[in-house]
Amino acid sequence: MTDNIELIEAIHVEQLYMTLLATIERLRAEIASDAILAEIEQPTEIGAFSVEALEAILAPHREPDAAYLDDGLGGFFAAVVALAAAAVGHSGSSRDSTMLAERDLQLALMRTRFLADTAQAVRGTIQRMRTGVGDMASRVRQVRRSIGLSPGQAASLDAARQALFAYLADPATAAPRAILSRLSARLSGPQRAMLEKAMRPELDAARVEKLLSKHANSMATYRARSTAQHQTHAFAEQGKLTAWRIAERFGILPRGQRRFWQTAGDERVRHSHAAVQGMNRAGVPLDKPFATPLGECMTPPLEIGCRCKAMLRPSL
Ligand SMILES: [Zn+2]
Repeated sequence: MTDNIELIEAIHVEQLYMTLLATIERLRAEIASDAILAEIEQPTEIGAFSVEALEAILAPHREPDAAYLDDGLGGFFAAVVALAAAAVGHSGSSRDSTMLAERDLQLALMRTRFLADTAQAVRGTIQRMRTGVGDMASRVRQVRRSIGLSPGQAASLDAARQALFAYLADPATAAPRAILSRLSARLSGPQRAMLEKAMRPELDAARVEKLLSKHANSMATYRARSTAQHQTHAFAEQGKLTAWRIAERFGILPRGQRRFWQTAGDERVRHSHAAVQGMNRAGVPLDKPFATPLGECMTPPLEIGCRCKAMLRPSL
């Protein structure tokens, strides 16, 4: 049972990853430069980058890729429920109303979360570009390349832009280390190293734009990959829990079954995740959350990158 779920989980990580990348690409292509310019020049509300506006752009009837989020990922959820239900001896869960409601809820949550973070990153960039350095064309480009980033990534992309512009303003006397240390709170170590390497006399405005676009793309790719892994795993674990709840409702689940937390069991497991096993040694009922060092958690994943699972066993 677990192996089959793992197998389809891996396939859907790839599919969701490709879908998110296509989605980001489409958003960047479809939002007009004048719309971005109008937002930068007019310091009031930010209209075109609300979650609702992004959702309209990504509406399934317009968007073959975005349709995967409903059909493909929804189908994955149903498949996990069917596999997990079959493993405890229950069949016929595919039209179950609990399953359908939970599936729709999970899809809506995922969509809203992804779009809300995306919108927030773009709104933050627009606000910074209202008073930012560089001409308007460059600022519009910065807003466009922030589409697809998380709010934190967009802030660090902005710090990178500030650093490069500060260097360009006076390459003869600029001190790259001093520039970077002023902005260090928003830059990671690898980002600082990358920027320091770029701050050479041959750097010009065109190279700065190219460098920023390349860096934004690699951050967007990273975010799409980790979002795909996280969401797919979350769907798998929610699907299992849903299947067990249905089986319990039908009286199929043997009495005294409890959920146990299981880590991936290797050296990459975080201490806070390993601690959950000990904090719930007797397992938890289907309707009770696990106690964790990060607060209560109904079912894994505990946070981004988590590979933990819940397993169903008789209580000890
Ligand atoms: Zn974990």
